Amino acid sequence: MKIRVGFGFDVHPLEEGRELWLGGVKLPAMKGAAGHSDADVLIHALCDAILGAANLGDIGSHFSNTDPRWAGMDSKYFLQEVTRMIQAKGWKIMNADLTVTLETPKVRPHIDAMKQAMAPLMGISMDDVSIKATTNERLGYVGRMEGLNAYAVVLIVQE
Ligand code: MG
Repeated sequence: MKIRVGFGFDVHPLEEGRELWLGGVKLPAMKGAAGHSDADVLIHALCDAILGAANLGDIGSHFSNTDPRWAGMDSKYFLQEVTRMIQAKGWKIMNADLTVTLETPKVRPHIDAMKQAMAPLMGISMDDVSIKATTNERLGYVGRMEGLNAYAVVLIVQE
């Protein structure tokens, strides 16, 4: 049995007039994440971790941010497709551990909904998805609410 780990990171700017999609869920917020797709930073970091574990490039190499097909796209589609890509190579996701850094709004009340949205797309149970959130203690661009970050680690296995 082969076991591999993958890591992903993503950042998006926060802007007024945009929706804030995080972990496949729309959060009530004053500012939303800007980007070509729905700018779901948590799913993008997760996709990069999954692709990285299987050594299949990164999200931008599969879903270019200049391709009009992905404009305003629901990132849950990317997660589903990335999972399909690694499954086609015989890999199976075991678990994912995610962290988002964001000053406001509070993420914790939405964590169960995010797990529920993302776990089935990876073929795993909610118990296999960990989502943690922290502020940036008002430091830097995250602290000034100019942007948000996400980090992801996943474990994959091949029988
Ligand atoms: Mg992104």
